[in-house]
Amino acid sequence: MLMGPDLLSPLRRSLGLQLIVGSVTAMSLSFVVLAPSRDDVWRLLAVAVSVVLLSAALRRVLRRRERASDLATIATLLLGLGATGLVTDGHRTAFSAIYVLLFVFIGCRLPSGSAVLLAAPAVGCWLVTNAPVDTLVLSRLPGAVAVWIVVGEALSARTARTTQERDTLRTMAHVDALTGLLNRHVLSQHLEQVKQGDALVMLDLDHFKAVNDTYGHSTGDAVLADLGRVVLSVMRSRDRALRYGGEEVLLLLPGAGTAGTDRALARLRTGWSASHPEITFSAGVYVSRGGDPAEELELADQALYAAKTSGRNRTMHYIAPVAPSPRAPMTVPLEERTSSGTFR
Ligand code: GH3
Ligand code: MG
Ligand code: MG
Repeated sequence: MLMGPDLLSPLRRSLGLQLIVGSVTAMSLSFVVLAPSRDDVWRLLAVAVSVVLLSAALRRVLRRRERASDLATIATLLLGLGATGLVTDGHRTAFSAIYVLLFVFIGCRLPSGSAVLLAAPAVGCWLVTNAPVDTLVLSRLPGAVAVWIVVGEALSARTARTTQERDTLRTMAHVDALTGLLNRHVLSQHLEQVKQGDALVMLDLDHFKAVNDTYGHSTGDAVLADLGRVVLSVMRSRDRALRYGGEEVLLLLPGAGTAGTDRALARLRTGWSASHPEITFSAGVYVSRGGDPAEELELADQALYAAKTSGRNRTMHYIAPVAPSPRAPMTVPLEERTSSGTFR
């Protein structure tokens, strides 16, 4: 192999650089296979080695600077292509470089298997661009196709791994690990999308501290995980549920209105009591009037507080005064509801 372990190490953090180094090296090796004379072989090997060394050097020199790896990538690509062109003959060099770069692109952008599939039309193009097709051209074809497929598929696998890692990190950044609900980091982004008629529901388990104190924190954690599971199981696909605090959950129910929210909470109470009949929850609801989402969230929280102070295990709706702004003072009645009826 051209790259020793000491050179691999500084390259490891730069995917772009690795891709270019790998492709230029593969391209050079393909020319080695196809080279007409031993002289060319040694010159091409020298190009490949110098590209790798230069890449490692640029990576080390520029690593602390903004866009350092991009600069190194561009410089390496230019050097690799230029040097390869200098030491190989005629238009075939350019065509070979273009085909390898095409498969670098395929590997970076398309899923596994694409390079194999796209090799067939590429062979057609290769034969046209290498016309007239003689035995020498045909003898070079298998080596060229092998390089395309190896480069394309290796990069596809690498790209898939990177994409999967990125998706995992994105999920970890947005989702609470214990409950599987969204976390507070995405609160403002989801609140911004609240429109008139959407419901904001604050849920809080009743006397949850006693659960921890009686059964231990890990049992409490299991209860919270169950809460997340039950909430997710009863919600519609467009609803959103965030873990707002320790055992507080915020539901955002687009277009639910008062009746839709009651139905959603009835489903939730049924699901939750089947899972944990001994633990209840209280809920505060505010149906948006299109006001400031943060203030409307505060009104839902006040309704939750009212549900707590009036006995827990119930839902309170914050009922705004007639045609008011959501900023109106809290001199309004709170309507108390449960799945079994309406109370005042
Ligand atoms: P209330 O009915 O008034 O809501 O009573 P409460 O005991 O549920 O209320 P409080 O907010 O005082 O207690 C919440 C408890 O939730 C306190 C805290 O130990 C617990 N808690 C918060 N986060 C976690 C967690 O991640 N795991 C566990 N097991 N407990 C948690
Ligand atoms: Mg509580
Ligand atoms: Mg609480």
